[in-house]
Amino acid sequence: MAHDNPAHGTLTGGCLCGAVRFTVTGAPTRFSVCHCGMCQRWAGGPLLAVHLTVPVAFEGEDKISVYRSSKWAERGFCGVCGSNLFYRMMGDGTHVLSLGIFDDQSAFTMESQIFIEEKPSGYSFANDVPAMTGAEVFAQLAKLPY
Ligand SMILES: [Zn+2]
Ligand SMILES: [Zn+2]
Repeated sequence: MAHDNPAHGTLTGGCLCGAVRFTVTGAPTRFSVCHCGMCQRWAGGPLLAVHLTVPVAFEGEDKISVYRSSKWAERGFCGVCGSNLFYRMMGDGTHVLSLGIFDDQSAFTMESQIFIEEKPSGYSFANDVPAMTGAEVFAQLAKLPY
């Protein structure tokens, strides 16, 4: 429900070298943590993911490199410095932004952890949030309209 996940005003961010910048209005204030093996390889650890339901505007778009990581999604990164920027659904163009590329992360809180069964045993987050397995995530996705 929208009122359970209030939106930010306008936020900005960008990659390490500054070649790619973005602006988004109405981003949710929560992020989820994905422990899946693909995100671990891509991000060098769990992906702290901000699921947008609003459009994001990029500057320096010609510097964005895209890797098609599955049938349904592609992952974008800065072609200059390699910063991981987003996961994008092929179907509707929805973006999931890396939390770490926001200039100000202070108002974001953790909402959930997913693919918890793929998390390496050597670390755990202390946040008291729901943890779902990959199977539970896919079961939930199957209920979505698309
Ligand atoms: Zn960069
Ligand atoms: Zn993942």
